[in-house]
Amino acid sequence: MARIVVVGAGIIGLATAARLATRGDDVVVLEKETEVAEHQTGRNSGVIHSGLYYVPGSLKARLGTAGAASMTAFAHEHGVAVETCGKLVVAVDDDEVARLDVLAERGRANGVPVHRIGPDEAREHEPHVACVAALRVESTGIVDYRGVCRVLAAQVTDAGGEIRLGTTFVGARTDGDGVRVRLLDPSGDGTELRADALVVCAGLYADRAARTCGIQPAARIVPFRGEYFELAPHAARLVRGLIYPVPDPRFPFLGVHLTKMVGGGVHAGPNAVLALAREGYRWRDVSPADVADALTWPGLWRLGARNWAPGAREVARSLSTSLFAASLARLVPGIGKADIVPAPAGVRAQALQRDGSMVDDFLVQTVGRQVHVLNAPSPAATASLEIAKHLERELDGALAA
Ligand SMILES: Cc1cc2nc3c(=O)[nH]c(=O)nc-3n(C[C@H](O)[C@H](O)[C@H](O)COP(=O)(O)OP(=O)(O)OC[C@H]3O[C@@H](n4cnc5c(N)ncnc54)[C@H](O)[C@@H]3O)c2cc1C
Repeated sequence: MARIVVVGAGIIGLATAARLATRGDDVVVLEKETEVAEHQTGRNSGVIHSGLYYVPGSLKARLGTAGAASMTAFAHEHGVAVETCGKLVVAVDDDEVARLDVLAERGRANGVPVHRIGPDEAREHEPHVACVAALRVESTGIVDYRGVCRVLAAQVTDAGGEIRLGTTFVGARTDGDGVRVRLLDPSGDGTELRADALVVCAGLYADRAARTCGIQPAARIVPFRGEYFELAPHAARLVRGLIYPVPDPRFPFLGVHLTKMVGGGVHAGPNAVLALAREGYRWRDVSPADVADALTWPGLWRLGARNWAPGAREVARSLSTSLFAASLARLVPGIGKADIVPAPAGVRAQALQRDGSMVDDFLVQTVGRQVHVLNAPSPAATASLEIAKHLERELDGALAA
């Protein structure tokens, strides 16, 4: 039985903590917020991705595909709202058809059941969609990720683990065979915990948390806000399930899409704009330190220089509801500006390398008795139960070394 401190009560930290606590480890989770799943996990699209998009053999492909099955089974087993409703990826013009076919090949290479269909069959699934061709993926689903986190948190405490909310991780250092962890308790007082090992799943703060432990992360987290609208009730009938565009292969984000939610209603989005604070959910949320952090990273300038035109289009779409509605109307022509209402945004933690390339795969760095998750973008919520197994193996290797 080892004493393990886990930082972050998002879905990755909780899934890992639940796994370790139920096998008998003495687990303490540190979370700076007063609730679990307050950041990426509680502000995402709620999709169980099937594994369609990811480079075959990558962690995203392996853990994402296995995770789609394990997350769906977990939700059914624990009474969390879930539905395997399937999705359509639609090519709206001939130029997109070639990319659609590449995507279908990639999906098949990952073992995802993908069906290439024509416009008539697409309209049998989604009567209001416009397309020249489409992919149908039956295994895609939707789930309540906050509900999943509540179950995982209960598993941690039922197994004797502790979840310390309102507690900020400040840093750690290796000490003999273990790790000394510094934290601020809910009253703001600094204290220290001694642990056999540390697992850091700090999402938007992953790189900073690594630096406070004396580890130089290979990439910097750059926050990309994803803004959402909801279809107004009168327009929700235009969408039955999930409708996605063909993604632009140059970007890791999937493009604004239409997503039925488990709680009812249809989400539209997310776009991708640089956030002016790591937890900046609105344009007016500005953190000078976070802005300075992003602007002093050469990778951001290199990314910007290569992608200024699509970047400017994203900003314009963020500022104009008409442009946002026009993107949705490419998929479902009946949708107009009057059919959408703003909904809360999320911010993605995207690791960006010095050369301006985005880290595509999940990235975990283990140093001594510390395991740091440095990049866990979509589909990490889908894959979380499998990522937890991966982190458990890393941790066991570190403890045995
Ligand atoms: C807009 C958007 C849409 C997405 N859609 C999907 C989707 O449909 N399907 C999917 O599979 N994935 C999706 N994702 C990705 C998915 O949500 C994330 O990959 C996943 O939630 C990452 O979980 P996490 O635990 O690493 O991070 P988080 O959920 O961000 O959790 C990190 C936690 O660490 C805490 N923390 C940070 N620093 C400290 C500190 N110093 N001390 C204590 N606590 C700290 C934070 O408060 C936070 O609670 C989406 C993401 C976004 C933003």
